[in-house]
Amino acid sequence: MTTKTAVTPLADSPSEAGRSVAHKYLQSGPFADIYDKVMDGRRLSFDDGLRLWKSNDLTALGLLANLSREAKNGNRTFYVRNQHINYTNVCNKGCKFCSFYAQKGGPAPYTMSKDDVRAKLERTKHIPVTEIHMVAGIHPRLPYSYYLELLDTVKATRPEAHIKAFTMVELLQIQKLAQKPMSEVLLELKAHGLSSLPGGGAEILTDRVHDTLFARKETATEWLETAKTAHRVGLHTNATMLYGHIETLEERVIHLMKLREAQDETGGFLTFIPLAFSSKGTKLEHIPPTTGMLDLKAIAIGRLMLDNFPHIKAFWMMITPPVAQAAQWYGADDIDGTIVEYEITHEIAEDNQQQLTQRQLVQMILEAGRDPVERDPLYNVIERDDSRTLLPEKPRMPLVMA
Ligand code: SF4
Repeated sequence: MTTKTAVTPLADSPSEAGRSVAHKYLQSGPFADIYDKVMDGRRLSFDDGLRLWKSNDLTALGLLANLSREAKNGNRTFYVRNQHINYTNVCNKGCKFCSFYAQKGGPAPYTMSKDDVRAKLERTKHIPVTEIHMVAGIHPRLPYSYYLELLDTVKATRPEAHIKAFTMVELLQIQKLAQKPMSEVLLELKAHGLSSLPGGGAEILTDRVHDTLFARKETATEWLETAKTAHRVGLHTNATMLYGHIETLEERVIHLMKLREAQDETGGFLTFIPLAFSSKGTKLEHIPPTTGMLDLKAIAIGRLMLDNFPHIKAFWMMITPPVAQAAQWYGADDIDGTIVEYEITHEIAEDNQQQLTQRQLVQMILEAGRDPVERDPLYNVIERDDSRTLLPEKPRMPLVMA
């Protein structure tokens, strides 16, 4: 039995003494002007963003981002019970940063039929999930009806779950097949069960990175226009940023500012999700993995620049559970979910866990000194009859204090 209530931000922080030390540190440091802006609720500029990326003062970045995080979401950290389905790895886009799509010497091709999808969902039906998250490659030979039937199948098998599906590049492919305006296509997908969009495929929203790494995929303008169209027909989306490859610091700031401008127009983005680039199995294998330092900076600067985004997610699957745990003090108020299975990043899949139980997520949050809140994909709070049994009798001491 579950009920849903709207989230209202909390006002208090668990560590007032730590907070006062943090304020003094920031007032006397190189970011005193940015601190004033954050405290006054004033927007950071392009130059502010660039200074933040150039800085290695992770303590200052975290403290600044934490001020904004706590003002928006109090001490809460959200998580979701979700399951991922990657229905095909056949793709004609050939993005240089991707290890997921089928290619010679790489993953073998697969495409899931309706029966495959149904069977996959049936296998895990004993696990309570609130969200089915579906993204995949751009298969050149699937018809429009495939996508509608895919949604119908998920809805029929897990009617209680919210379907979050399709990156902007998948949507553009679906629109091409449907030969209708994007708004009509989105409404049709919505009628078949689509409830929101995950916000993938943004990568870095500049022409240089587009032309160098993913020239066959949608441009920055197309990604933003598709997202805004979705917002206008009543579908919320997230927005991602793939960092740690060839992008410059300036391009990271441009990316964030383009998202912020789009959000000013529509208000339809819910969450910003920085995605750490993992080069294994890609055409960019010479690029080393991101560091914990960079992962935390991406979260902190995302929080500070995107003043109109309600939530910032630390996607534990990509940055590891320990970094996601620390990220709750660097701007993140969400650590994603149980996931169950994830195919997109092979290096991560081999080296790390692909699944966390709800109890593990709750304990990761409690250990960091935050209040765990189960959410649905639209950030309505889920109250379950079994919620209390997830809490350990004596939570361990927080690992990180402000
Ligand atoms: S990132 Fe997406 S569009 Fe690009 S090659 Fe991989 S699956 Fe295809």
